[in-house]
Amino acid sequence: MPKKPPADNRKDNPMAYDPNNVFARILRGEIPCNRVYEDDFALAFHDLNPQAPVHVLVIPKGAYVSMDDFTADAPDALISGYMRAVGTVARQLGVTGSGYRLLANAGTDAGQEVPHLHIHIFAGRPLGPMLVR
Ligand code: 5GP
Repeated sequence: MPKKPPADNRKDNPMAYDPNNVFARILRGEIPCNRVYEDDFALAFHDLNPQAPVHVLVIPKGAYVSMDDFTADAPDALISGYMRAVGTVARQLGVTGSGYRLLANAGTDAGQEVPHLHIHIFAGRPLGPMLVR
């Protein structure tokens, strides 16, 4: 089995976990959200500023900034539960036939705004090229 990299391999990550970020506050029930799915590992809700007819965010129930610290530090049950939740939400949204796009921004170059790992699910129209040219 591959060895887990030590946490200090990620010292260069510019985004520290802020327990008061907006998604942490949504998880604690301090801010409302338009929920579409929840289980022990994940919460999914509609994006406040949708970029497509379907724009849902899926977040893990844990203090992780992005996919790199999540996959390095989260327990296996949370990683698998979270990934299963993403697929469950896509099926629940009814977009698997027409197609959908997953996006997880991480860090400055990707324009990540909220420092809590989230996967965007976009669907409901042809989504165009993968990246702005
Ligand atoms: P990022 O740029 O970090 O990948 O995406 C952050 C997303 O969170 C944006 O699409 C933004 O519209 C969404 N967002 C920011 N604040 C809130 C909020 O309070 N509620 C919801 N539902 N979405 C939010």
